Amino acid sequence: MAQAPDLAATTGLQPPTWADIQRASQVVRRHLPVTPLISHPTLGAGSCSQLFVKHENVQPTGAFKVRGGLNLVAGLDEPTRARGIIGYSTGNHAQSLAYAAADAGVRCVIVMPAGANPVKAHAVRMLGAELIEHGAHFDEARAHAEFISERDGLRLVSAANEAAILAGVATAYVELVEQQPDLDAVVVPVGGGSGAAAACLVASALAPHLEVFAVQSEAARAAHDSWTSGTCVESPNATRVEGLATGAGFALTQRVMRERLGGFLLVTDDDITLAQRALLFDAHTLSEGAGAAALAAVYAHPNTFADKRVAVVCTGANASESEIRRVVS
Ligand SMILES: *Cc1c(COP(=O)(O)O)cnc(C)c1O
Repeated sequence: MAQAPDLAATTGLQPPTWADIQRASQVVRRHLPVTPLISHPTLGAGSCSQLFVKHENVQPTGAFKVRGGLNLVAGLDEPTRARGIIGYSTGNHAQSLAYAAADAGVRCVIVMPAGANPVKAHAVRMLGAELIEHGAHFDEARAHAEFISERDGLRLVSAANEAAILAGVATAYVELVEQQPDLDAVVVPVGGGSGAAAACLVASALAPHLEVFAVQSEAARAAHDSWTSGTCVESPNATRVEGLATGAGFALTQRVMRERLGGFLLVTDDDITLAQRALLFDAHTLSEGAGAAALAAVYAHPNTFADKRVAVVCTGANASESEIRRVVS
């Protein structure tokens, strides 16, 4: 496996400190209500001792990522605010940046792969960002965004190699630990790894007993393979689950996960669809695939969770119409 291109560019990047995360909590609380943590007995039956869902699907952008965007934009200096920001994304990072930039009156350009989820593309436009559809997948969109960032002097915002994004995302886990201090485990879906790394940082600071598990699709396992091999690697990216569709490990989040993650699980795309179905019918919750991946991991690895009080993070709800049809058919 090849060395990920991302690694060289980010050597020396530091994760946020606990003080950074506390400041981010103040920023995020000014904009967003605390999201619900709900015990769903029917969902957990037979796979763990108690199952909670952290409902990030109710965020105004339909995904947890808005926390990171709000915190990043809040910390920009004046010259950067005046020029604007640019991001690349299969969708939810884009909505996060667009939402935060619109709120702060900052220009925002988004590069999405061509044929991106129309629900997410529409939302980005409605939020007032300039949308460029380019490239066949995430990694090609990234290259184009890097080019435009250089050309136009826009601040390029990575979805995962950003301390301010990690600190913002960490606020979900501060809430989680405050809502249910005696959890044994939390399961977090991974694309770039901001959620899982943030969970690790908060667990280290606030909940030493809390085990953090990451989950990816077998069809896009770069973060998993990077974690198990101890170095950032590339791996084929063939999952249909957008939030999990990355082809390379990200240096910053991998570094944090290496120190604190309790385990990294894999599930199939079909496991994820079944978990979406369970969330829909047993928890009355619309999730996109990535939002159901943590629950899929609990179902696929019952021995890991049998005696545990487990929280799964329902990270997002931005399912396309065709995806919803697959879930209910
Ligand atoms: C981005 C995303 C993920 C993965 O999060 P990372 O921080 O990139 O690992 C999971 N679920 C949803 C809904 C997402 O948008």
